[in-house]
Amino acid sequence: MKIVYSDRHRSHDPQTFIHRGSLVKSPERPERADILLSSAVAAGHEAIEANRTGGLALTRVHTARYLDFLENGINEWIALPNAGPEIVPNTHPNRFASHYASHIIARAGFHQADTACPVGRGTWAAARSSVDIALNVGDLIARGQRHAYGLCRPPGHHACTEMAWGFCYLNNVAVLAESMRMSGAERVAILDIDIHHGNGTQQIFYERPDVLTVSVHADPDRFPVFFSGYADEFGSGAGEGFNVNLPLEHGSDDAAFVDAIAAGMRKVEDFGPDVLLIALGLDAYRGDPLSVFEVTTNGFRQAAETIGAFNEPIAILQEGGYPCPELGENLVAFLDAIDG
Ligand SMILES: [Zn+2]
Repeated sequence: MKIVYSDRHRSHDPQTFIHRGSLVKSPERPERADILLSSAVAAGHEAIEANRTGGLALTRVHTARYLDFLENGINEWIALPNAGPEIVPNTHPNRFASHYASHIIARAGFHQADTACPVGRGTWAAARSSVDIALNVGDLIARGQRHAYGLCRPPGHHACTEMAWGFCYLNNVAVLAESMRMSGAERVAILDIDIHHGNGTQQIFYERPDVLTVSVHADPDRFPVFFSGYADEFGSGAGEGFNVNLPLEHGSDDAAFVDAIAAGMRKVEDFGPDVLLIALGLDAYRGDPLSVFEVTTNGFRQAAETIGAFNEPIAILQEGGYPCPELGENLVAFLDAIDG
């Protein structure tokens, strides 16, 4: 399979992550992409460096004030007296808020959902290159590849129209879906198999009938992102019926994971999309530092066989999956099985 990557992700190396009250090293670090790329290349997949892309689809998915915050906010931040090197919010608009304020501290609170998405000097360049990777994968599909993979880093599926969240800044899979719609695909389906709910992707397309969003993930009642991902979220307005959440119990094994993916694929087949986009998290793995599932390498292989039976083109974009000895092996098992 052709795999698209970029070295520009390295400029994003987040130093701040507050976990249960302690400042710890973010698991979303450059090493992740190194492991994934070297494993895929060693397994014989063809690596292609991403070209720069235009930003039209990006501006249709994310708001102008949010893109400006991500690109330029750091300059305002580091000019503050005693500022740290990364934008980390310490105040958030809560449900009683009434205004968008102009101060960079207020904008940080407005646009960053949590402390897992600090914005440093190199964050914009890396996030933008991650979108380039997604759009380059779309180009490969448009030129006739049946399957293609994008090694997106940072990941994207938690990013909302104007909010960074959970290691994500720009929603790569949403931008690719929008770009494919703009270039003629009538219907696009997104299947997200990261262990966390694809909440940003859901929010972006929640009122639209042209992009089906399906997410298989751990029950959010006791797991991030907590506030969405429940089975009763179906979409709204014209989008009603075009959002599907398949939450699974913590401790779920290969059989439960693959069954849910098969159920998701039946929704995809019913929808009849021109193209299927896979938001591929590998954090359902039982050895992942964040995982609460018992999915094995063979589970990813079976999941990919189930997905790979689909008859239309499949674009796969990387989401989560954190450093552990089997991270690369899990990616290779998935990609090989997609190709059959
Ligand atoms: Zn995840």
